[in-house]
Amino acid sequence: MTRESAIRKRDQLASTLARGGDVLRGSLLERTTFHGSGCPKCARGEGHPQWVLNVNYPGAKNRQLSLRPEQVPQTRKALKRFQQVKETLEAIRELNQYLLRLDRDESREREARSPPAACSAASPMASSLRKSAICGNPGCGTPTKR
Ligand SMILES: [Zn+2]
Repeated sequence: MTRESAIRKRDQLASTLARGGDVLRGSLLERTTFHGSGCPKCARGEGHPQWVLNVNYPGAKNRQLSLRPEQVPQTRKALKRFQQVKETLEAIRELNQYLLRLDRDESREREARSPPAACSAASPMASSLRKSAICGNPGCGTPTKR
């Protein structure tokens, strides 16, 4: 993959996040509640279906939010959307990581092609910024305080 196609792909993915506001995390559960007495439905064993959004938090905590039946479709969509946004962010992160590696390797190659005379023994981990600061010093090797 070239740098250009990686950047194009990343920006394309990022643009889909602009619609990312409609998200919910958790799982949708349907449970049945029963009244103690005086309800014919419950007496027949049918009970009342109740939709619940169950959300887990770190530390084994969770919160449950009961929903009106008409809220279920939009909640399902928002849950799905959250997964998509998460996957998109992961893909973007992966591409950025690739670009970071590409940048690093290219700057390494540039250095290899034209090693600064006095600094050829410098650690490859030294950033170009710091390195130029070192090289600007006549003593070379004693980092300049900036
Ligand atoms: Zn009932």
